[in-house]
Amino acid sequence: MPRVSHRSAVRTASLLATLLGAGCGAGADAGPDLHVRTVGVILATSAPFARAEDFPARLETTFDAALGYWGGSWDDLANVSLTLTGETSVECGGRAALGCFDGDMRITTVDPGIGTFDCVEQTVLVHEVGHAVIGDPSHTDPRWMDLAAVEAALSGRVGYSGDGVTECQIYPSVWRHPLGEP
Ligand SMILES: [Zn+2]
Repeated sequence: MPRVSHRSAVRTASLLATLLGAGCGAGADAGPDLHVRTVGVILATSAPFARAEDFPARLETTFDAALGYWGGSWDDLANVSLTLTGETSVECGGRAALGCFDGDMRITTVDPGIGTFDCVEQTVLVHEVGHAVIGDPSHTDPRWMDLAAVEAALSGRVGYSGDGVTECQIYPSVWRHPLGEP
């Protein structure tokens, strides 16, 4: 993609951030910032990708890829909300985790090693969709250690860093989990 388009996308993202900031009240009961199909999405992060113009579409296609891999459908996400937080972890059953599904979904936009993710595809969202579809809290299904098909489906997209447009490098290890461990 030519560099001019990149700059244009970032400028649009900044404008969207301004609009979202102006329109949203503070507080947990303010309601979702956006909906992807039936999923209400709460943005509690300043990660640039979450304010990019393409974010709703990226979220939807990432859900699609994950649902396809886990053998689920959008029905599995009915009544599920998704919160993206800029905190380094989320609370999950009394423990700190990078993501959680307990009827609702919470994921951090920060990787412990590389810092703020450049795109939603890099987050643990694909993993948490697995819990929404198959449950399996002890990770006994061998698919928890594969995920190559999702990597292939989501590779080659752009990411958004503080400096502008970058690559959305996929790390399937973020989605994987040792088998038989909660
Ligand atoms: Zn898990």
